[in-house]
Amino acid sequence: MPQTPPTRLTAPRTVRMHPDDNVAIVANDGGLPAGSLLPSGQILRDRVPQGHKVALVDLKQGAAVLRYGVPIGHALADIAAGSWVHERLLKLPPACGLEDLPMATLKPAALAPLQGFTFEGYRNADGSVGTRNILAITQTVQCVAGVTEFALQRIKAELLPMFPHVDDVVALAHSYGCGVAIDAPDASVPIRTLRNISLNPNFGGELMVISLGCEKLQPERLLPAGSMPLIDARQGAARPLDVLCLQDPAHVGFMSMIEAILRQAREHLQRLNQRRRETVPASELVVGLQCGGSDAFSGVTANPAVGFCSDLLVRAGASVMFSETTEVRDGIAHLTARASTPEVAQTMVREMAWYDAYLQRGQVDRSANTTPGNKMGGLSNIVEKALGSIVKSGSAAITGVLGPGEKLKTKGLTYAATPASDFICGTLQLAAGMNLHVFTTGRGTPYGLAAVPVIKVATRSELARRWHDLMDVNAGTIAEGSASIEDVGWELFRLLLDVASGRKKTWAEHWKLHNALVLFNPAPVT
Ligand code: CA
Repeated sequence: MPQTPPTRLTAPRTVRMHPDDNVAIVANDGGLPAGSLLPSGQILRDRVPQGHKVALVDLKQGAAVLRYGVPIGHALADIAAGSWVHERLLKLPPACGLEDLPMATLKPAALAPLQGFTFEGYRNADGSVGTRNILAITQTVQCVAGVTEFALQRIKAELLPMFPHVDDVVALAHSYGCGVAIDAPDASVPIRTLRNISLNPNFGGELMVISLGCEKLQPERLLPAGSMPLIDARQGAARPLDVLCLQDPAHVGFMSMIEAILRQAREHLQRLNQRRRETVPASELVVGLQCGGSDAFSGVTANPAVGFCSDLLVRAGASVMFSETTEVRDGIAHLTARASTPEVAQTMVREMAWYDAYLQRGQVDRSANTTPGNKMGGLSNIVEKALGSIVKSGSAAITGVLGPGEKLKTKGLTYAATPASDFICGTLQLAAGMNLHVFTTGRGTPYGLAAVPVIKVATRSELARRWHDLMDVNAGTIAEGSASIEDVGWELFRLLLDVASGRKKTWAEHWKLHNALVLFNPAPVT
């Protein structure tokens, strides 16, 4: 007989997010058995797993089930108070239209500036700041990935130890570059993504490119003259494009290519090794927010704490991005209302409409987003998931919107339109220029990126205890009542400054857990 996990001997606890809510979620580790007396007075009729919903009143068939004060679905049958409200009892509400939305109506009050916070970063010639000092090897096409990886192992073993001020060497491997409809309008997305990733502030403007020779994505198309990083900002002098072409007749045999890549890498490593950290204002942080492996606690603990931290960052003058289009789609009315101007709201609607059409071409809609793990964690559908997801964006006015793969040029809170896929969202935020990544998870994911530190925030203490050497912050203390959203938000803010400065490493950095870059290519392949 399979055993249900033991329920910890603590008083039953539930979390209700809004006074209008007619459901609450069970907070206790391991869930609660039938017969438990809830703080709100109901007796549980079913065993309810942790993070799952319980009806606080009798719900008639067709009644709206309210969480965060809004309908997350309608009851498919009569549900008695004290019953488990799982996804099979809920009908998904239709997606809200993109017409007649409130456009910049909320006008959030300007947040008080937060001064005096700094970190130690690597200032680049273009004014951007890196949090790590990394040599990146850009590749025009997947064909060169194996050769580059071979060279990378030798660079790490033979060269990197000679350059102690360089943190790492990273190969920017990807699946694009040839066999694709490169002139299709949507091909601009993967191409600008690759270009802008190689210009990420953590790479110090040292571009080295490996090309095959015959590929569609030629080096000059990937990095046209006008996009090259500056050596001297005052004189406007840019670096020449440093390309090594494997089909160059000068290379006779494999080792000739490898030796040439090592010579090329040594030059860049010498320059990167001369860089030192300097004190810069917290406004130089470019923080990408996302979530993955979400559960019903994501919107109760971790995401609200990240939202509080996001407001602190905006107050400090930093750049913050939130993303994941299918996870904000159902909260669109809250977001367009919070836009700083009708134009910003309109751009957000345009990005949503483009994504709706993209999903429609594949004959799916936003309900394709939720995973079996989301549902096991108590999230019944995409509406419930979205409402918990957008809390990450805090309360500041949304002042910018960025298309997928574009480079961020503004401070403040920006909606960076990306798919919700963890790897694609991270890749696109990297292209936007993020120098720190904050990632919340309830089910648990060991996600990490080679190019930028990833700070992972657990939604539940049980996960934080079990994955004690993978999770950087435990927001589960909020559900336990031992810390407030503000406490965890400030803890995260201070940790961001420490990690940005290199004083602390994230667990993903410690174990070198690196997920692959995954491009968003909405264009056809050939
Ligand atoms: Ca995600």
